[in-house]
Amino acid sequence: MNVLVVNCGSSSIKLDLLDPATGVRVKKASVERVGSEGCSFAIDGGDAQALAGADHLAALKAVLPALLGELRVDCVGHRVVHGGERFNAPVRIDDEVEAAIEALVPLAPLHNPGNLSGIRAARAVLPDVPHVAVFDTAFHATLPTRAKTYALPVELATKHGIRRYGFHGPSHQYVANRAAEALGEDIRDLRIITCHLGNGASVTAVEYGRSVETSMGLTPLEGLVMGTRAGDVDAGALLTLMREEGLDADALDKLLNKESGLAGLSGVGNDLRDIEARAAEGDERCRLAIQVFCHRLRKYIGAYAAVLGGVDVIVFTAGIGENSATIRHRVLQRLDFLGARLDEDKNRSARVSQASPTAVISEDHSRTRLMVVATDEAQAIAAESAKLAAAADKVDGGTRIPIAISARHVHLNRQTVALLFGEGAELTPYKPLSQPGQFACEQKVNIIGPKGRIDGLRVLGPVRSQNQVEIARTDEFKLGVDAPVRDSGDTAQSAPITLEGPAGTVQLTEGLICARRHIHMHPDDAARFGVADKDVVEVAVDTDGRDLIFGDVLVRVSPKYALEMHLDTDEANAAEITPDVEGVLAPTHGSVRLLRKRTEFVHG
Ligand code: ADP
Repeated sequence: MNVLVVNCGSSSIKLDLLDPATGVRVKKASVERVGSEGCSFAIDGGDAQALAGADHLAALKAVLPALLGELRVDCVGHRVVHGGERFNAPVRIDDEVEAAIEALVPLAPLHNPGNLSGIRAARAVLPDVPHVAVFDTAFHATLPTRAKTYALPVELATKHGIRRYGFHGPSHQYVANRAAEALGEDIRDLRIITCHLGNGASVTAVEYGRSVETSMGLTPLEGLVMGTRAGDVDAGALLTLMREEGLDADALDKLLNKESGLAGLSGVGNDLRDIEARAAEGDERCRLAIQVFCHRLRKYIGAYAAVLGGVDVIVFTAGIGENSATIRHRVLQRLDFLGARLDEDKNRSARVSQASPTAVISEDHSRTRLMVVATDEAQAIAAESAKLAAAADKVDGGTRIPIAISARHVHLNRQTVALLFGEGAELTPYKPLSQPGQFACEQKVNIIGPKGRIDGLRVLGPVRSQNQVEIARTDEFKLGVDAPVRDSGDTAQSAPITLEGPAGTVQLTEGLICARRHIHMHPDDAARFGVADKDVVEVAVDTDGRDLIFGDVLVRVSPKYALEMHLDTDEANAAEITPDVEGVLAPTHGSVRLLRKRTEFVHG
């Protein structure tokens, strides 16, 4: 299979024709200075050929036939920087999607217009193959609200879509998966911090395969020191510059995006190789640039280790991350308190390439593994596009799936049952639940957090090997706790909580979660819908007159399951559905339709 990856910036275009399974390039081309008299293109790194004055459409019309010749293209994958609120997964491009990407231009005025020109031009030149948009922001759709919210007046932020989105998604996702693969571990067991250090730079906390925090925000300006971008700056400093220097929005835009970062600090441009060479010769500004760059990244790594409650792997990638042993050394020294011990020899000798993409640079007994991983954004985009083009992304949505509202409840292990209800106590069934073999118990427990308590949570039977307490988001505030969103059963490193029963109290060090939305299915249902266990789907909730779409819904398939989607009480409230009867898992008058399947690296 050949996938053409189109990465259209404001003034440059990169085209890669590659095999999505291996990343092997069949051919590539680049176009520089699009829209100016100096516009030119080169194929496979050959001589530059003039394209004076060509815009994106003219450039692609000239370059694509020269690049492709007789070669077959099965699918085109487009890098799109900003997917806004709507696009949290790759999507097949049609006129409606194209219009939606255009509507996002105000959120990403520097990036989306170029991406859009590329889409229009490529669709005109290659009308008969599927075109897929892969969004930089999509991987970060799983950021919890607390991580994506700025402390601005809510109404104003909502009106303008101002929140943290995050970027470099395909790269963070790709290197996290590559690192897990190379370590022979399941990404769903790992807490990974990925540091993408290229001209643009960002760092992401990847918790069990999902992005939970990232350094770029509404735009790619926030966070780390970059080639020419400032990263974090006190917004008050910008107000000072506006007042004292008379800078307007355009001037600030240029200052922060083009004249700051390593270039602004060093005074010798944005190329770290030059800056490192001059620093070695004693240039003070270049030394300072390196120190500020590394300090900022160290600070983020420490913060993200706290967000994740520990870290198993730290990954360095992109131009600087893959090539600069000195930057890695400065950032990773004295991290013993995180269990991370850099092996200086391995760090100096680490070489990664697309043929050999991973190197471990930590000491053998380092609890936290340190790695260098070669990123390949074009391959990440190609693989996502190919998957989507191959899969029927629309699933059989004809059959309605009943919803049950899952009130807060607990699952207990044998030892906890004994401590709460007395030695020898058995869980006694109160009524059966819709999932075969499961039952609500006569027993109830109280849960106690640092701020408050909630009494009378129903215990669900039978006993399990692990304790698990499932609450809704609003319960977090009553209790004064932060509970991570998790798949049921996935309680490692979740939040602590105290349980109180008639015979005693038990302090759980972990086990408190907000359950991830999920659908239980029998294998026969899964076959009918065209989905498999651990697929992630979107569903539309059919309530009177309102079509509410829930993304990130996990499919769980087992011969023991009956078809049913579980929402927690907050989600049910959002969808304006109420249980027909009160209960632990109350059936409702609502139902859902499966909309589409989300193809994920995580489970791929
Ligand atoms: P982009 O974000 O433009 O794709 P890259 O990932 O290519 O950027 O990274 C560009 C950065 O990587 C530049 O600052 C460059 O100086 C740096 N870089 C590339 N090779 C080396 C090297 N051998 N040593 C130090 N820095 C390097």
